[in-house]
Amino acid sequence: MITACVALGSNLQEPAQQLMAAVAALRGLEDSRLTRCSRVYSSAAVGPGEQPDYLNAAVMLETRLTPLALLDALQRIEARQGRERELRWGPRTLDLDLLLYGDQTLNLPRLQIPHPRIAERDFVLYPLADLLPADCELPGLGPLTALLAARPGADLQVVDLQLPEEHCR
Ligand code: AMP
Repeated sequence: MITACVALGSNLQEPAQQLMAAVAALRGLEDSRLTRCSRVYSSAAVGPGEQPDYLNAAVMLETRLTPLALLDALQRIEARQGRERELRWGPRTLDLDLLLYGDQTLNLPRLQIPHPRIAERDFVLYPLADLLPADCELPGLGPLTALLAARPGADLQVVDLQLPEEHCR
Protein backbone atom coordinates (compact mmCIF):
# COMPACT_ATOMS: atom_id res chain seq x y z
CA MET A 1 0.00 0.00 0.00
CA ILE A 2 1.14 3.55 -0.77
CA THR A 3 0.20 6.57 1.33
CA ALA A 4 -1.35 9.28 -0.85
CA CYS A 5 -2.70 12.72 0.04
CA VAL A 6 -5.55 14.41 -1.82
CA ALA A 7 -6.68 18.05 -1.64
CA LEU A 8 -10.37 18.97 -1.75
CA GLY A 9 -11.76 22.37 -2.67
CA SER A 10 -15.22 23.75 -3.43
CA ASN A 11 -16.81 27.17 -3.80
CA LEU A 12 -20.15 26.38 -5.42
CA GLN A 13 -23.41 24.62 -4.60
CA GLU A 14 -23.09 24.16 -0.83
CA PRO A 15 -19.31 23.71 -0.49
CA ALA A 16 -19.58 21.98 2.91
CA GLN A 17 -21.88 19.33 1.43
CA GLN A 18 -19.59 19.00 -1.60
CA LEU A 19 -16.66 18.22 0.71
CA MET A 20 -18.74 15.75 2.76
CA ALA A 21 -19.89 13.98 -0.40
CA ALA A 22 -16.33 13.88 -1.73
CA VAL A 23 -15.02 12.34 1.50
CA ALA A 24 -17.78 9.72 1.33
CA ALA A 25 -16.78 8.95 -2.26
CA LEU A 26 -13.09 8.77 -1.33
CA ARG A 27 -13.93 6.45 1.53
CA GLY A 28 -15.53 4.11 -1.02
CA LEU A 29 -12.59 4.17 -3.45
CA GLU A 30 -11.55 0.74 -4.71
CA ASP A 31 -8.30 -0.80 -3.40
CA SER A 32 -7.92 2.09 -0.97
CA ARG A 33 -8.58 3.04 2.64
CA LEU A 34 -9.22 6.54 3.93
CA THR A 35 -7.06 7.05 7.02
CA ARG A 36 -7.04 10.74 7.95
CA CYS A 37 -8.86 14.01 7.28
CA SER A 38 -7.58 17.52 7.82
CA ARG A 39 -9.43 20.37 9.42
CA VAL A 40 -11.61 22.40 7.03
CA TYR A 41 -10.40 25.87 6.00
CA SER A 42 -11.99 28.78 4.19
CA SER A 43 -10.18 31.20 1.92
CA ALA A 44 -11.01 33.93 -0.53
CA ALA A 45 -11.07 32.72 -4.14
CA VAL A 46 -8.02 33.29 -6.34
CA GLY A 47 -9.19 33.76 -9.91
CA PRO A 48 -11.30 35.75 -12.33
CA GLY A 49 -14.19 37.96 -11.23
CA GLU A 50 -16.21 37.88 -8.04
CA GLN A 51 -16.39 34.36 -6.66
CA PRO A 52 -17.69 32.85 -3.41
CA ASP A 53 -15.11 31.86 -0.79
CA TYR A 54 -13.63 28.39 -0.94
CA LEU A 55 -13.72 25.57 1.55
CA ASN A 56 -10.57 23.46 1.45
CA ALA A 57 -9.42 20.28 3.16
CA ALA A 58 -7.16 17.29 2.54
CA VAL A 59 -7.34 13.58 3.22
CA MET A 60 -4.84 10.75 3.47
CA LEU A 61 -5.40 7.37 1.81
CA GLU A 62 -3.65 4.06 1.80
CA THR A 63 -4.00 2.79 -1.76
CA ARG A 64 -2.99 0.07 -4.18
CA LEU A 65 -4.09 2.18 -7.17
CA THR A 66 -1.34 3.47 -9.43
CA PRO A 67 -0.96 7.27 -9.53
CA LEU A 68 -2.80 7.54 -12.86
CA ALA A 69 -5.57 5.17 -11.76
CA LEU A 70 -5.98 7.29 -8.63
CA LEU A 71 -6.12 10.49 -10.74
CA ASP A 72 -8.77 8.83 -12.96
CA ALA A 73 -10.78 7.95 -9.85
CA LEU A 74 -10.51 11.53 -8.52
CA GLN A 75 -11.66 12.93 -11.86
CA ARG A 76 -14.64 10.55 -11.89
CA ILE A 77 -15.66 11.83 -8.45
CA GLU A 78 -15.28 15.45 -9.67
CA ALA A 79 -17.42 14.65 -12.72
CA ARG A 80 -20.11 12.98 -10.61
CA GLN A 81 -20.28 16.08 -8.44
CA GLY A 82 -20.89 18.26 -11.47
CA ARG A 83 -17.51 19.88 -12.05
CA GLU A 84 -17.46 21.91 -15.25
CA ARG A 85 -14.04 22.57 -16.67
CA GLU A 86 -14.81 25.69 -18.63
CA LEU A 87 -12.79 28.43 -17.00
CA ARG A 88 -9.28 27.96 -15.67
CA TRP A 89 -9.21 29.15 -12.03
CA GLY A 90 -13.00 29.59 -12.32
CA PRO A 91 -15.51 28.59 -9.64
CA ARG A 92 -16.03 24.88 -9.14
CA THR A 93 -18.31 22.52 -7.28
CA LEU A 94 -15.42 20.20 -6.51
CA ASP A 95 -11.69 20.20 -7.18
CA LEU A 96 -9.65 17.13 -6.20
CA ASP A 97 -5.88 17.25 -6.56
CA LEU A 98 -3.44 14.44 -5.91
CA LEU A 99 -0.81 16.11 -3.72
CA LEU A 100 1.53 13.29 -2.71
CA TYR A 101 1.93 9.65 -3.69
CA GLY A 102 4.37 8.02 -1.30
CA ASP A 103 7.76 9.59 -1.81
CA GLN A 104 7.44 9.57 -5.60
CA THR A 105 7.99 12.48 -7.95
CA LEU A 106 6.21 12.35 -11.31
CA ASN A 107 6.23 14.78 -14.19
CA LEU A 108 3.73 13.44 -16.73
CA PRO A 109 1.58 15.58 -19.05
CA ARG A 110 -1.52 14.84 -16.93
CA LEU A 111 0.05 14.39 -13.54
CA GLN A 112 2.69 16.25 -11.59
CA ILE A 113 3.54 14.92 -8.14
CA PRO A 114 4.12 16.52 -5.70
CA HIS A 115 1.34 18.82 -6.85
CA PRO A 116 2.92 22.18 -7.82
CA ARG A 117 0.44 24.18 -5.70
CA ILE A 118 1.64 22.66 -2.40
CA ALA A 119 4.38 25.27 -2.10
CA GLU A 120 2.35 28.07 -3.69
CA ARG A 121 -1.00 28.10 -1.92
CA ASP A 122 -1.85 28.25 1.77
CA PHE A 123 -5.14 26.49 1.08
CA VAL A 124 -3.25 23.44 -0.17
CA LEU A 125 -0.29 23.48 2.22
CA TYR A 126 -2.13 23.93 5.53
CA PRO A 127 -4.70 21.15 5.11
CA LEU A 128 -1.87 18.87 3.95
CA ALA A 129 0.21 19.79 7.00
CA ASP A 130 -2.66 18.61 9.26
CA LEU A 131 -2.13 15.11 7.87
CA LEU A 132 1.64 14.83 8.11
CA PRO A 133 4.17 14.57 10.94
CA ALA A 134 5.73 17.98 11.65
CA ASP A 135 9.25 16.72 10.92
CA CYS A 136 8.51 15.18 7.52
CA GLU A 137 10.24 15.95 4.23
CA LEU A 138 8.24 16.34 1.05
CA PRO A 139 9.80 14.79 -2.06
CA GLY A 140 11.54 17.51 -4.07
CA LEU A 141 10.20 20.26 -1.76
CA GLY A 142 12.18 19.80 1.46
CA PRO A 143 11.07 20.00 5.10
CA LEU A 144 7.42 20.71 5.83
CA THR A 145 8.49 23.18 8.54
CA ALA A 146 10.35 25.30 5.95
CA LEU A 147 7.34 25.34 3.63
CA LEU A 148 5.06 26.42 6.48
CA ALA A 149 7.53 29.12 7.60
CA ALA A 150 7.57 30.54 4.06
CA ARG A 151 3.75 30.77 4.01
CA PRO A 152 2.29 32.09 7.29
CA GLY A 153 -1.25 31.05 6.37
CA ALA A 154 -2.65 34.56 6.83
CA ASP A 155 -5.25 34.05 4.10
CA LEU A 156 -6.87 31.05 5.77
CA GLN A 157 -9.43 30.48 8.49
CA VAL A 158 -10.26 27.20 10.20
CA VAL A 159 -13.97 26.49 9.84
CA ASP A 160 -16.11 24.87 12.53
CA LEU A 161 -16.91 21.84 10.41
CA GLN A 162 -15.64 18.32 10.83
CA LEU A 163 -15.30 15.89 7.99
CA PRO A 164 -17.12 12.59 8.58
CA GLU A 165 -14.14 10.41 9.47
CA GLU A 166 -13.11 8.88 12.76
CA HIS A 167 -9.49 9.90 12.28
CA CYS A 168 -10.32 13.55 11.63
CA ARG A 169 -8.51 16.10 13.71
P1 AMP B 1 -7.39 21.74 -12.06
O1 AMP B 1 -8.19 22.60 -12.97
O2 AMP B 1 -6.52 22.47 -11.13
O3 AMP B 1 -8.21 20.69 -11.34
O4 AMP B 1 -6.38 20.94 -12.99
C1 AMP B 1 -6.80 19.77 -13.63
C2 AMP B 1 -5.71 19.28 -14.57
O5 AMP B 1 -4.47 19.20 -13.88
C3 AMP B 1 -6.05 17.91 -15.09
O6 AMP B 1 -6.03 17.96 -16.49
C4 AMP B 1 -4.94 17.01 -14.57
O7 AMP B 1 -4.55 16.07 -15.55
C5 AMP B 1 -3.84 17.99 -14.25
N1 AMP B 1 -2.97 17.57 -13.14
C6 AMP B 1 -1.61 17.58 -13.15
N2 AMP B 1 -1.11 17.16 -11.98
C7 AMP B 1 -2.18 16.90 -11.18
C8 AMP B 1 -2.31 16.40 -9.84
N3 AMP B 1 -1.22 16.13 -9.08
N4 AMP B 1 -3.56 16.25 -9.33
C9 AMP B 1 -4.65 16.54 -10.09
N5 AMP B 1 -4.61 17.00 -11.37
C10 AMP B 1 -3.38 17.16 -11.92
